[in-house]
Amino acid sequence: YVSFRNVQKSYDGDTLVVKNFSLDISKGEFLTMLGPSGSGKTTCLMMLAGFETPTSGEIRLDGQMINKMAPHKRGIGMVFQNYALFPHMTIAENLAYPLTVRKMPKAEIEQRVNTSLDMVEMRDKKNRTPGQLSGGQKQRIALARALIFEPKLVLMDEPLGALDKNLREQMQYEIKRLHERLGITAVYVTHDQTEALTMSDRIAVFDDGIVQQVASPSVLYEEPATAFVANFIGENN
Ligand code: ATP
Repeated sequence: YVSFRNVQKSYDGDTLVVKNFSLDISKGEFLTMLGPSGSGKTTCLMMLAGFETPTSGEIRLDGQMINKMAPHKRGIGMVFQNYALFPHMTIAENLAYPLTVRKMPKAEIEQRVNTSLDMVEMRDKKNRTPGQLSGGQKQRIALARALIFEPKLVLMDEPLGALDKNLREQMQYEIKRLHERLGITAVYVTHDQTEALTMSDRIAVFDDGIVQQVASPSVLYEEPATAFVANFIGENN
């Protein structure tokens, strides 16, 4: 469904921050890109989202080459760590905003906003402003916002990084449950091994622009392909 073929990326025309990256992601899969800071995970996600262009190689979505397709045409929802919600608008207004900009009929906007809020069990908070929500609740709204265009693919970059440990664990569970319920394809970026092992169908382990191994959590844990994978997966476990 998503396919990276020999993708490379250089920002300065010299150093490759992603080297010869190939990966196929199936429909409905929860795929995590795991690796230390600076290993190239976010760059891969940004190329898939359309905010960066590969220096060479091909990215395909549903068979179509999308290397240069504009981000808004890709049908992708995104969640970042810094969920920038408009502070002066209510939650419902925040979610409606991108739909209003696209001049969607009012009744449809209302229906989509309610559906998205129901998905994250936040409909009762729709008239609050972001300042009146907790960190976890704001993160759920960020998820609802990513789902508002009913994307087939959702990309998440360290979405829980700002939350404390308990809340992070609870949100991991909620995201996983939502993913299973919606049958959506998810690509998740984190440097947290435990998070990756708990949530993913498969994990791609990055080190310095190179993918060392792509495998299920149990295979990574029991049969790490390289010393780097063994050390990295073993940390904090
Ligand atoms: P982190 O978890 O810290 O975000 P990462 O694994 O996601 O790390 P990237 O953000 O993809 O890694 O960065 C990979 C490399 O590319 C790093 O060396 C980074 O400094 C460099 N880099 C990232 N974005 C840019 C940019 N816009 N311009 C130049 N260099 C960049």
